[in-house]
Amino acid sequence: MKFIYLSLFTVLSLSILANSDSTTTEKSTPLKKVEKKAKKTGVQLVNRFDFFVDSINNTIPDSLPFYDWITNDIHFRKFDFSKVEDTLMVVLNDSNDHYTHPFNGNITSSFGKRRWRYHYGMDIDLTTGDTVRNAFNGRVRISTYSKTYGNVIVVRHDNGLETIYGHLSKRLVKIDSVISSGTVIGLGGNTGHSYGSHLHFEIRYFDEALDPRDIISFENFTTHYDTLAISQCNFMYREELKLMSAIKYHRVRSGNTLGHIAVKYGTSITKLCRLNGISRNSILRLGQRIRVR
Ligand SMILES: [Zn+2]
Repeated sequence: MKFIYLSLFTVLSLSILANSDSTTTEKSTPLKKVEKKAKKTGVQLVNRFDFFVDSINNTIPDSLPFYDWITNDIHFRKFDFSKVEDTLMVVLNDSNDHYTHPFNGNITSSFGKRRWRYHYGMDIDLTTGDTVRNAFNGRVRISTYSKTYGNVIVVRHDNGLETIYGHLSKRLVKIDSVISSGTVIGLGGNTGHSYGSHLHFEIRYFDEALDPRDIISFENFTTHYDTLAISQCNFMYREELKLMSAIKYHRVRSGNTLGHIAVKYGTSITKLCRLNGISRNSILRLGQRIRVR
């Protein structure tokens, strides 16, 4: 398995940035210089992942089509990691950056399957008004109200990860603000699709959700390690998702019989009975969910 030494890369690119006289250049990337220097120093730039990890340090050229800076769409693009064989190293704690736990509360719901849906984050119990803090140095990509997330902040971090903070009662940072690890970004709440005050906290890499428990100890409020190795293993849950999407339900309406439903979904009454643990003579209730696949 190939390894990409992103920490080395980060040091390299940072030193180049420090040497350049421009301090404000948006995306006027020193990519060529990086490549030249990489050749000289023997650092292997294996593929384009090298560049998006250092995302907001202005190292991503416009020519790279992904990881755009999009401020009006939380989930603008998914990346298919199933074809990536490399293990990507992401720096979590070093002399420039460190992890801050957004809110030290109990977990009320974890990442994973939640009945017929998938829960892509961790729910942290809090009281409305509690302060919520930013996890790593970064820049605010989204600060908006969404039907599902409620008041939500998305921060893209210098290390390439993105974190999402949902159901806030108040947002305290604006889009494009450069913020530090520990900056108060909002107040906890119960907005959007939420039942009871809590923080919905997600960690994503290229908009692909990671299980936050792979990265953080929710008992100690710290990261497990100072670097995170992202590989195929982190996306194994996609198999579970595939299985879930293969399952389909029908909600019983007035006049529906098992026969109607079987015809509608191209299956048989016998199969429907087996899937739902019912008999042919079972009486269907209005609104009942019948599994059809
Ligand atoms: Zn949640």
